[in-house]
Amino acid sequence: MIDFHQHIGSRGRTLEHLLAHQEAHGVKQAVVLPIDRSLSEEGGHMPTEAALEAARTYPDRMIAFCHVDPRHPDALDQIRRFHAAGARGYGEHKLRLPCDLPEAKAVYRLCGELSLPVLLHFEYLNYNHNFAGFEQVLRDHPETTFIGHAQAWWANVSAAVPQPGDAGFTNYPKGPVVRGGLTDRWLSEYPHLYADLSAGSGLGALTRDPEFAREFVNRHRKKLLWATDCPCRDGRGDWGEQGQRECFAARSLPVLRELCADQETFDDATGGNARRLLGLN
Ligand SMILES: [Zn+2]
Ligand SMILES: [Zn+2]
Repeated sequence: MIDFHQHIGSRGRTLEHLLAHQEAHGVKQAVVLPIDRSLSEEGGHMPTEAALEAARTYPDRMIAFCHVDPRHPDALDQIRRFHAAGARGYGEHKLRLPCDLPEAKAVYRLCGELSLPVLLHFEYLNYNHNFAGFEQVLRDHPETTFIGHAQAWWANVSAAVPQPGDAGFTNYPKGPVVRGGLTDRWLSEYPHLYADLSAGSGLGALTRDPEFAREFVNRHRKKLLWATDCPCRDGRGDWGEQGQRECFAARSLPVLRELCADQETFDDATGGNARRLLGLN
């Protein structure tokens, strides 16, 4: 299995924690995602060098992505350097910028040329603003592989999406899905688009409406990437200073297994699709 969404270097999480997390769930490889916050006021900077170092230390277990703030004057050359140093994708792109910022589109173009999949975190008010504008990004960059993730991405699995400013707005809508959501339609219409099932947002999409989820998972079986984004240190819910909580791997794997129509679909979602997308073996 491949966990397509993991981090090291934030909240005291070490490479050894990540490895223990993989061992606990029989996960062979993890995608290690940096976030370049060097130009941002918020914290949480996770440098690409640490992801590359993780992949050098455990080449059979860790897959490094790279991330550069697109506003950096040297952004494109930095990505070329990281690609040459072994990075296999770009992301997690999680900055307080529009998803269709011209500088970001230059990055997406280069990532298409270099065959680096681009992983984006969509979250209303916070990250990758202008979610609806992402469709034009998809149209403009057919050579680039995109992977959608996070709250706004998964809220839009439904056509009825709580918007910031609505009474009772939530990033984690529950209850029945209204068919025809943007995320669902885009996955159907754009062959270069994939979805990362990680974190509470991915888990919510799989659990809020089981009948819809079963149909969605099997219809998009070649487009789904199982992932956790789990910060726990042992695969059993040790969130360090945040105490004992849940492990996203422990929650999501049985849910996904139950939704998949057959073993082949489960194998695709938990590794096969990732291997094809990343050109592994
Ligand atoms: Zn994220
Ligand atoms: Zn965990």
